[in-house]
Amino acid sequence: MSMRGGPRGGKYLSEEEKQNAPKITKDLLIRVFSYLKPYWKQMLLVFAAIIVSSILSIYPSILTGRIIDEGLIGRNLNLLIKLILISLGVTLGSNLIGVLESYLNTWIAQHITFDMRNQMYQHLQQMSHRFFTTSSQGDIITRMTSDIDGVRQIITNTFRSILSNSITLVVAVVAMFQKNVILAIVGIVIVPLFTIPTRSAGKTRWSLTNEAQACNDEINGILNETLSVSGQLLVKLFGMEKYEYEKYRTVNEKMVNLNVREAMAGRWFMVVISTISSIGPMLMYLIGGILMMKYDHDLSVGDISVLVTLLGRMYGPVNQLLNIQVDWIRSMAMFTRIFDYFDLSIEIKNKENALIPETAEGDVTFDHVWFQYDEDKMILKDISFELKSGNSIAIVGPSGSGKSTTVNLIPRLYDVTKGSVRFDGHDVRDLDLAWLRDNIGIVTQETYLFNGTIRENLLYAKPDATQEEIEAACRKANIHDFIVSQEKGYDTPVGNRGLKLSGGEKQRISIARILLKDPYVMIFDEATASLDSISEKAIQDAIDPLIDDRTSILIAHRLSTILHADEILVIKDGEIVERGTHKELVNAGGVYTELYNTQFKIPEIEK
Ligand code: ADP
Repeated sequence: MSMRGGPRGGKYLSEEEKQNAPKITKDLLIRVFSYLKPYWKQMLLVFAAIIVSSILSIYPSILTGRIIDEGLIGRNLNLLIKLILISLGVTLGSNLIGVLESYLNTWIAQHITFDMRNQMYQHLQQMSHRFFTTSSQGDIITRMTSDIDGVRQIITNTFRSILSNSITLVVAVVAMFQKNVILAIVGIVIVPLFTIPTRSAGKTRWSLTNEAQACNDEINGILNETLSVSGQLLVKLFGMEKYEYEKYRTVNEKMVNLNVREAMAGRWFMVVISTISSIGPMLMYLIGGILMMKYDHDLSVGDISVLVTLLGRMYGPVNQLLNIQVDWIRSMAMFTRIFDYFDLSIEIKNKENALIPETAEGDVTFDHVWFQYDEDKMILKDISFELKSGNSIAIVGPSGSGKSTTVNLIPRLYDVTKGSVRFDGHDVRDLDLAWLRDNIGIVTQETYLFNGTIRENLLYAKPDATQEEIEAACRKANIHDFIVSQEKGYDTPVGNRGLKLSGGEKQRISIARILLKDPYVMIFDEATASLDSISEKAIQDAIDPLIDDRTSILIAHRLSTILHADEILVIKDGEIVERGTHKELVNAGGVYTELYNTQFKIPEIEK
């Protein structure tokens, strides 16, 4: 669809595009050309090839005059054959140069976008967690794919089109003037006239294309929503198959109508164009004839033929050059969108001369930490605690109180607003980011597995792990037995985002993954919801022994985990409101007592 038009491909700028048209400044142009610069030698060759092939491609039209006058009318067979051979040879030559030019052009464009894609991917990988939680994923993917692809098209099409069409046009005009000034002027006057209907006919088609594009987006939306795993589940569970089908059918039908109308608009358009463009040559013959017959002008039949052929050769370039402005603005908009992303500043940066301590202990200190995601709301208020190497801390509190936020500050997913988080006595902002993250492992509530086998997912933590190491980790995580009971064992595919596995299985695989990574500090953001008591027990049996011999922080929802911790921090509305051991807190009558009575105690009794 987009090839035939669409917001990015048509001959006209949409209202939205007009409003968003970038200011084309010198800086922008310099920046665009800086991407072309490494390939200037190849580009020079392309320019030369375009010039030569454009001139050569016009030459046979000029030869037509001699073929007619000297060959045919002059009845000189030898010359006729010679001229025909030259004409064919020149056409062949021009086409061969065209091949070379296409190759070079494609090569350059591919290499420029290769550079851009890599640069963008690297840049995006340095973007903070905040960036990914805020931006839409679709937008990120679009910039990485279609926008950069747009840039490739600009280089292969727009730049090339400007150059080759201008040259063709200049050569054709010069050749026409050489043949006959009056007819050349007639040509120059009528060619733009004939391009006007093209433009207006194109407009109708463009609006249909736009409608079709919108319809297509709607269809994609429906498919995306209802044929995704969770969408289809919803449809099934609510018995909405028929409703969704009807909805799909209606848009699909609209699409059919639009496509038929669009194709037919194109057909009528062709009729109009071919009729109109045949008027041009006729006018040439008429005026040429009048000049020859009434004014005894020394025009020959060959000259008129040349002029008519040249006129025909001018339609294309004139039309394309008239549309260049649209392409140009669109191209610059594409570059601007890409540059916008390149200009996003890197929020969490590795400090220059960042520290890489020789060994790690795993002490974590929060020193009067304040934190806010957005200007207006303080999420963490004056959080202070110390986790000594080998000990464990349980963080408890109502949902939304700031527990996950607290632990996310340790591997620097975000930086503190005030105060400091220290690892082994060093402010985390002074430490090498890779080193820091290497020493901290987080099992998040929402476990993410890549689409691959269980083994591949485990190896992500330690690419050179041996089978023994993998199995040892899986035994500790209480998942080994499950894995070997599968037909393919460790080579079992986990499915899209690990959806072929249950929540509990995924969670235990992600625990095994962290165990393989073997960091100094382990953080468990305990999943509570969506787990049945058997899965929960299996996870509990995996986590609890780890707490005893590892430096760990647990965002805990179950009493057994909390009981294993050396200290309990109770967080409410971003503040530590109580701290101590279970014994000290359970009867204190504060937030912990309340949590205990509502959350921790009851499920334990039920078990
Ligand atoms: P908990 O883990 O205790 O359930 P969180 O640390 O996830 O709580 O969230 C604490 C508060 O911060 C909540 O009010 C939540 O809405 C807000 N919050 C969490 N993540 C973000 C984010 N990425 N951007 C803005 N606000 C957030």
